Amino acid sequence: MAHRRLLSVLAAAALMVAGAAAQQQRPRIPPTGEIAEVSDNLFVIPGAGGNTTVFVTQAGVVLVDTKLPNNGEAILNQVRRVTDKPVSMIINTHSHPDHIGSNDYFPATVDVVTHENTRKWMAANPRVASIPAAMPDKTFTDRMTLGSGNDRIELYYFGAGHTNGDAFVVFPARRALCAGDLFAWKMSPLIDPMAGGSVLALPDTLEKALNGIPNVDTVIEGHGDVNTWQGFRDYVAFNRALVDAAKAGMGKQTAEEIAAALKPAFPVFTKEQLLPDMEYGGTPWSRAIINVNMTFQELGKR
Ligand SMILES: [Zn+2]
Repeated sequence: MAHRRLLSVLAAAALMVAGAAAQQQRPRIPPTGEIAEVSDNLFVIPGAGGNTTVFVTQAGVVLVDTKLPNNGEAILNQVRRVTDKPVSMIINTHSHPDHIGSNDYFPATVDVVTHENTRKWMAANPRVASIPAAMPDKTFTDRMTLGSGNDRIELYYFGAGHTNGDAFVVFPARRALCAGDLFAWKMSPLIDPMAGGSVLALPDTLEKALNGIPNVDTVIEGHGDVNTWQGFRDYVAFNRALVDAAKAGMGKQTAEEIAAALKPAFPVFTKEQLLPDMEYGGTPWSRAIINVNMTFQELGKR
């Protein structure tokens, strides 16, 4: 029985690791969507992988994430609907190909900024490392300030979660932030241990962000919707509850039983319905079960 449970945990973990790569090849990923205003000078382009955030500054257009490969022209076409300014900077929230994939479309003179661990993962990927325009020019460790006044951007890093290079990108004048895949699709995040991700570290990382980032009302998720600070607060509480419940229930309850107990308090994050345009990501329910299993797996390695 113990052996069988271990096998199912390993199978779930293997699916998870394969998940990021498999997701890009499945046909149901929606194409680059239409640019939508979040607030003055701040826009989001959905589809074709992760959300691309567009921040129009005096010096030019800052893009946060560039979707899957071969979407650079589609991104630029959407940007042209709101401004003629050139793209001057790209910030990548993390190293996954659905967030950095079209960096190389933009000229090598455009600064690419990432967390230092994200640069390491990009450098370790020969397809990315061989294209200088795709690679980071500037990195940070804990904090970095870019620009000033209304154009100021604050980058924060609080530890491992989805990967170990996940940046929060804050636009103080707009009271908005990009959460990358630490918060995407309003469901348990994919944990990528191959890129330093950790479900055990995740609640700490999210709580540090919640307590350490001031004056934010709008949270742009890595995929899917634009959410609120309260929505982010609820999500942080859910991830803490999930990991705590998995720790307490390991060896006594199944992952399904543990996840089911979270349903009354966290209906949004445990829904069994597929979300529109997010079918390839699974349901919130299936992702919650995966992260309970990921917690078992990480605890087993301690
Ligand atoms: Zn990702």
